Amino acid sequence: MTILELRDVWAGIEGKTILKGVDLLVKGGEIAALMGPNGSGKSTTAQVIMGHPKYSVERGDILLDGESILELSPDQRAKRGLFLAFQYPLEISGVTMANFLRRAYLSIHEESTKKLTVSEFHKILVENFKLLQMDETFTKRYLNEGFSGGEKKRSEIVQLATLSPRIAILDETDSGLDIDSVRIVAEAIRQINREKGTGFLVITHYARILNYLRPDVVHVMSDGRIIASGGFELAEELEKKGYAALNSS
Ligand code: ADP
Ligand code: MG
Repeated sequence: MTILELRDVWAGIEGKTILKGVDLLVKGGEIAALMGPNGSGKSTTAQVIMGHPKYSVERGDILLDGESILELSPDQRAKRGLFLAFQYPLEISGVTMANFLRRAYLSIHEESTKKLTVSEFHKILVENFKLLQMDETFTKRYLNEGFSGGEKKRSEIVQLATLSPRIAILDETDSGLDIDSVRIVAEAIRQINREKGTGFLVITHYARILNYLRPDVVHVMSDGRIIASGGFELAEELEKKGYAALNSS
């Protein structure tokens, strides 16, 4: 089983330290939630895991299956099976969803794709669009161009389903989604988790998506540290009382 581990990670940007000793485990097959007030360091955590060049890790280590990935480029980390869904998905005119996804798939699964024909790949794509309740005409549309906010977020999950990462990080994928889309996205995540054993780190402000996801573990971040961890009841408590209650208790 895949394990992503952050060990006492201190990291910052432009000389400013943002993460101040983050310890975190994300296991394959598990859904972990990361909550916390604005500016607490959640997106920084996601970027640092993926190896965004703007952030520097000052101390600590990030391990995938016991091996440090700190020296790996974002591309190499993606090849090892890490995936980050963007808060604001890219739009690229002139590149169809099908072409984009095939290229992304090929770049990550170099060897295995030789066995996949174009029509086999198309079949997988159509299934994945269906999983997100999007019809197959989306495969022919340009990447996210003219997509509604909800469709863009769902197309990120189609990408996730197609790439089959070992560990997926979703940074506020539920923000700005209507109630039905939140449910569709959450159900797709559960299915991917169950069928492919993908481990999830779901960054969110809202208990609503967690209601559908039923995460195995909930972590709360504040000022660059994990200050509480627990089960789903922790998210429910936060929804009722807010983060302030946690800080004072
Ligand atoms: P969250 O996702 O929890 O809202 P972030 O990780 O985005 O928090 O940000 C954590 C802190 O880092 C915030 O105080 C933010 O202002 C700061 N920060 C993020 N990016 C930069 C940057 N480029 N330069 C300086 N500070 C930054
Ligand atoms: Mg953020």
